[in-house]
Amino acid sequence: MTGRMHSFQSLGTVDGPGVRSVVFLQGCSLRCPYCHNPDTWDAGGGVSVSAQELLAKIQKYTAYYGETGGVTVSGGEPLLQADFVYELFSLCKAHGISTALDTSGIRLDDSVRRLLSVTDIVLLDIKYAADAQYQRYIGVSLHTVLRFLAYANDLNKRVIVRQVITPGVNDTKDDIRALRDLVRQYPCVEKVELLPFLKLCAEKYTAMGIEFPFGKYPQATAEQIRELERELQA
Ligand code: SF4
Repeated sequence: MTGRMHSFQSLGTVDGPGVRSVVFLQGCSLRCPYCHNPDTWDAGGGVSVSAQELLAKIQKYTAYYGETGGVTVSGGEPLLQADFVYELFSLCKAHGISTALDTSGIRLDDSVRRLLSVTDIVLLDIKYAADAQYQRYIGVSLHTVLRFLAYANDLNKRVIVRQVITPGVNDTKDDIRALRDLVRQYPCVEKVELLPFLKLCAEKYTAMGIEFPFGKYPQATAEQIRELERELQA
């Protein structure tokens, strides 16, 4: 089976625990206004790659993974290629490599359930903790994401929740309290990571000839993130 891949990063340290190979898949049906990777949206873009080829690439770095690292599949949205990722993760697990899935959790069907059966860690992007905000900025309901999270919770998966913080959009203490109160309902969530909204991707939008919807907002600073992290721990 083959999938569409945007890029491959060896020795990544920010997408899941430890040192990891990160596979960025091609294709996403959402259009988040802060998206860092609009070049991954086109499901027909990128390159075609087989699960076996990817396994060989991932195995080259096995010596670096240690007890905590492994492989992370990100995107784009990997759930759009759930059967392909299932095949890749099955191969990785057969070779003792830990698997992490970086997703928005916007789909839950039999393919996704099967994929979760071979996923060790879920990095779940909860873009906004309030459904009204989710619908306003993402155009779909948070409800499906919460179904996905509830299912991961039933399976007792390790889940790390992530959220991009955009000043002026979701950076108030009330926003963070809403996120904290939401994740507390799911004991499977072992950590929440707040990520700063950055605009390094602006030139990708320019190159694609499309508007960067959140280009008008300022970037989040490290100090802002630290302050919100304190609120999260309160
Ligand atoms: S889900 Fe990820 S890749 Fe897709 S539009 Fe949103 S931020 Fe971009």
